[in-house]
Amino acid sequence: MQRSNLPELTPIVHSWIKDVTSNHPLLEKWISKWGSPVNLLNLIPFQQNFQKFDRLFKKYGIEGKVFFARKANKCICFVRGVKEIGFGVDTASINEMKDCIQAGISPEMITVTAAVKNEQLLSYAVAHQIPVMLDNEDECGLLHSILEKENKTLNVGFRLSGFEWEGKKCYSRFGFDVDEIAAFLEEGLSNRGKYRRFHYKGLHFHLNGYSIGQRAAALSQSIDMVDRLASNGFTTSFVDIGGGILMNYLENGEEWEGFFNVLNETLLTDREEITFQKDPLGMVKLGNRLIGEPKVYPYFNQHPQEHFVEQILTTQKGDKALHRHLSERNLELRLEPGRSLLDQTGVTVAKVAFRKRDSEGRTLVGLEMNRTQMFSSSEDFLLDPIYIPKKTTNGPPCDVYFVGAYCLEQELILKRKISLPQFPEIGDLICFVNTAGYMMHFYESQAHQFDLAKNLVVKKNASWEATLDENLNAGNFL
Ligand SMILES: *Cc1c(COP(=O)(O)O)cnc(C)c1O
Repeated sequence: MQRSNLPELTPIVHSWIKDVTSNHPLLEKWISKWGSPVNLLNLIPFQQNFQKFDRLFKKYGIEGKVFFARKANKCICFVRGVKEIGFGVDTASINEMKDCIQAGISPEMITVTAAVKNEQLLSYAVAHQIPVMLDNEDECGLLHSILEKENKTLNVGFRLSGFEWEGKKCYSRFGFDVDEIAAFLEEGLSNRGKYRRFHYKGLHFHLNGYSIGQRAAALSQSIDMVDRLASNGFTTSFVDIGGGILMNYLENGEEWEGFFNVLNETLLTDREEITFQKDPLGMVKLGNRLIGEPKVYPYFNQHPQEHFVEQILTTQKGDKALHRHLSERNLELRLEPGRSLLDQTGVTVAKVAFRKRDSEGRTLVGLEMNRTQMFSSSEDFLLDPIYIPKKTTNGPPCDVYFVGAYCLEQELILKRKISLPQFPEIGDLICFVNTAGYMMHFYESQAHQFDLAKNLVVKKNASWEATLDENLNAGNFL
């Protein structure tokens, strides 16, 4: 078969995904019942991802707890999965909290990091005794007034920021400044302090970006804070290091490097485009130079998931690694992974609606979906999709762009030009792999009154079965 000269970005594909994507009639049946696109979710990798973190805690003999950052995917199946497997959920809204309580997750296995906590949300937390991570003084004031009114107390943690890194303070809009928190707690949480109904339990941070070094520095400075607070009578039971734990989408680091080499060449020379109208993916072209880095998620990573956390834990602080500092103090380490717990748990499948040429001669393949159904803050989702034809022919391959249903010129499902092994037919299917983390739901919208994509929990018994995610009687997913 003739090969295209487009650089490839081969995704890592879990066996359940290989299984369903090799079965056009099965996918066709689901799409004709539930519409296109359809999000397929599977809980087996969710459990496997949790176990990777859990084994790491055991390896270093530390107490550890995982809280799934629910905001990365709205499906209720993951909340039920958490309950079944036995870890926790990090919630960002009252509805996320209610889902956890209704699923039977115990309050101490729920954490609340919502960026805005109004009276309704905090009252719900108080009523159910769900520990809250506090971000600012106004929030403390509101929570304490509710506790006064209800004559109750609540376990709380405090979100910190402003850690020192490479001689500078790290910027964040979130949390209390690490240089001010001790005085604040020592005054406010004393027996006669204005927040005496708070039961202090721990410290929390969640850093922007994916730096291991920054997280190790923040953990180290949090441990110093634990010691300072201990000398003033405050016992810390946990340090929560948030999420942003990298995950790896791609088979091959050379493909990843190679893609950007070719991209840069197409942007700076007359070499044929590999992104729509030579889209620079967030870089800026100035004369004959490219300024800045591509604004894309680092889809290839050599140290994803538990390896990422391990590098933080084995960073030295003084003469010992950070994990030793944790175990010596009996401090529980908490993680709040969103994306990295969802690795390999979901795919998005869409149907080919039309093929055409645009006014500059590109082949466009129209999909029955819109771009908010697979969208993130990354400039493009840099993985080759899986092509699932009704019928395989002998080529020839063709290079296409996928476009969607919103009436915008820039309605591209992928900015990258994609090579297909044959010219696609109407009714062929395209599967985007590993979309459960943020891609499916974070930005989905209902413009043009399109229905939202259906979410199906798929499970193999004797054969593959799919259950609508909303189904409350769905039972066990694993
Ligand atoms: C978004 C968020 C997370 C999860 O981030 P991931 O990058 O998906 O791991 C965890 N904690 C907080 C406070 C967050 O805002």
